[in-house]
Amino acid sequence: MKDRDFIRTIIDQDLKTNKNQGRVHTRFPPEPNGYLHIGHAKSICLNFGLAAEYQGLCNLRFDDTNPIKEEMEYVESIKEDIRWLGFDWEDRLFFASDYFEKLYEYAVQLVQKGKAYVCDLSADEIRAYRGTLKEPGKNSPYWNRSVEENADLLERMRNGEFPDGSRTLRAKIDMASPNLNMRDPVMYRILRATHHRTGDKWCIYPTYDWAHGQSDSIEGITHSICTLEFEDHRPLYNWFLEQLEVHHPQQIEFARLNLSYTVMSKRKLLQLVEEGHVSSWNDARMPTISGLRRRGYTPESIRNFCDRIGLAKRESTVDIALLEHCLREDLNKNAPRVMAVLRPLKVIIDNYPEGHVEMLDAENNPEDPSMGSRKIPFSRELYIEQDDFREDPPRKFFRLAPGREVRLKHAYYIKCEEVTKDPQTGEIIQLRCTYDLETKGGWSKDGRMVRGTLHWVSLPHSIPAEVRLYDHLFSRENTADEEEGGDWRTALNPKSLEILHSCQVEPSLADARPGDWYQFLRKGYFCLDSGDSTLEKPVFNRTATLRDTWAKIEKAQKKKSS
Ligand code: ATP
Ligand code: MG
Repeated sequence: MKDRDFIRTIIDQDLKTNKNQGRVHTRFPPEPNGYLHIGHAKSICLNFGLAAEYQGLCNLRFDDTNPIKEEMEYVESIKEDIRWLGFDWEDRLFFASDYFEKLYEYAVQLVQKGKAYVCDLSADEIRAYRGTLKEPGKNSPYWNRSVEENADLLERMRNGEFPDGSRTLRAKIDMASPNLNMRDPVMYRILRATHHRTGDKWCIYPTYDWAHGQSDSIEGITHSICTLEFEDHRPLYNWFLEQLEVHHPQQIEFARLNLSYTVMSKRKLLQLVEEGHVSSWNDARMPTISGLRRRGYTPESIRNFCDRIGLAKRESTVDIALLEHCLREDLNKNAPRVMAVLRPLKVIIDNYPEGHVEMLDAENNPEDPSMGSRKIPFSRELYIEQDDFREDPPRKFFRLAPGREVRLKHAYYIKCEEVTKDPQTGEIIQLRCTYDLETKGGWSKDGRMVRGTLHWVSLPHSIPAEVRLYDHLFSRENTADEEEGGDWRTALNPKSLEILHSCQVEPSLADARPGDWYQFLRKGYFCLDSGDSTLEKPVFNRTATLRDTWAKIEKAQKKKSS
C-alpha cells in the first residue's frame, strides 16, 4: 500500500463516509496549447494512478476554451505522450468544447437567478473597477441590469450582434470580497476566432474558471486535483456549483513540480522552440515528455520518479539528479552493454595475423546473466578512445602509454610499442602495439596484472556513427529569475549539446532501433535517435552519463543524519 499522503487521506475518508457512493473518478485536464512536460507527467501519474489504486476511473479532458492558442497538433502529441507513459483513458476522451452548449444553458440559469449579468465595461475598465488586494472593488455600472435585459443581451452576444470585447457576462458575487477571484469574475467574452473543434459556431467563449468546474461536474468527477495556483480559485469553483445545484466535485490542490536546471512552463518552452534555442518540442534536451522519450528516458523511470517525489502542499524544486538516478536504476538493469569509441585512435596489432578475424564472446550484462552474450569481431586493426592513451602519462593514469600493457575488454592484453604522429601537427594518429595470445578473454594465465581495461572496436567491422552528448539545458540550477528583472534565457547553457561526428560503434549496433537502450561501456547510456538517424549514419543520443550524482547526494545525506 502506498504512503497516505494528504490526497489519499482525503479519499480514504470520503470512502469511509460513502461520499460519491464510494466512487473515485479523476481527470487529467491539459490545455492543448503545447507539448506535455515532466510536470504534467506528475499530474498524469497522480490522476491515473489514484484511479487505478481505488478501482476508479480517470478521464482525459482537453481544456480547449481558448481558441487562439490551441491546435490539433498538440492534442495528438498529448494523447501519444500519455499512452507512452503507460496510461489509458479507455473511452473517456472528452473536450471542454463538447460542453459549450451545456455551459451556455447553465449561464442562462444563473442569469435567471440574478446571479450573472452582462457588463459593457472594457477589459481595462473591469481591471480598474476590480480594486486591489488592499482596496475593495466597485460595482460595475451595469451591475443592476434586470434579468430580462441580461437574458436578452446574453442571447444577442451569442448570436454575434456585438463586436469582440465589447461586452462580457460576469458572475454577480461580491466586489468587496477579499478574494479577487470573487469580484464578479468574467464568464464569457466575445471573441471571433475559429475553434479547432467547434469551428465558427461560437463567438463567445467561456473562461477557464467558468468552464472547468462545470466540466468536472458534468463528467461526474469526484476529486478534481489541480496545482496550487488554483487554491484561490476554489471558492469560485464551489460558488458556481452551489448556485447551479449540480454534482459537486471536490477541488484539491498540490504543489507543482519544479526541476533544477530547466524551465517548466509551456510558454517558456514554446519560446525556446520559436527562438531556435532548441530544434523542436522534442529536442532531446527539452523537459517535455517527447523530449525525454527522444533522449532515451524509459516510461518506467519517469513513473518511478513521479512516485518518489511524492506530494506536497508547498512549492519546491526537485534536483534533476533524482530524475537521472531513476533512469540509471532502470537502464543499469535492462540495457545491454556494448562498445563504442567516441573519439577514435587507430591501433595496429603488429603481431596479429593480417586478414585474420576472431569472434570473441562478450556478455551483455554482468548484472543479469539471463541477458546472454554476443560475438564481437577482433582483428589486427582497432580503434580505441583517444583519451585512453597518453604519451606522457601523469600519475594515476592507468590506461595505455608507451611500453605499458592494458586489457582490451573481452579480448587480450596489448602493449604499446610505438607512437606515430603527424609530422606537421605533431598529433598522434596511430599506435603500434603487440598482443599476448595467452591472455585471451582478457585474463592472463601467468597471473600478470594490468591496471587499465579499455573498450575498443575492430576497425574493418565497426560502424561510423554520430553521437550527441547532452548537458543541462540551463547552466543555473534555479532558472526562475524573472522577478529580479533578469532574462531567464541568459541562463541557457551554451554547452548543452556536443555533436561528435566520427564515432565508431561495434557491428551489433547495426540492429539498433529507436527505443532500444544501450550502455556504451565506460561512456554512459545511449539510444538511437528517433529523428535524425539513417541507415548510412546512425545517430546515438547519450541518455545519461554513468556518474550518478544523486547516489552521492543521498549517501552524504545519510551520513549527516546518522
Ligand atoms: P504550464 O504552466 O506549464 O503552462 P499548465 O498548468 O498551464 O502548465 P495545463 O495544460 O493547464 O498546463 O495542465 C494540465 C494539468 O497538469 C493541470 O491539472 C496542471 O495543474 C497540471 N500541471 C501542469 N504543470 C504541472 C507541474 N509542473 N507539476 C504538476 N502538475 C502540473
Ligand atoms: Mg493552464
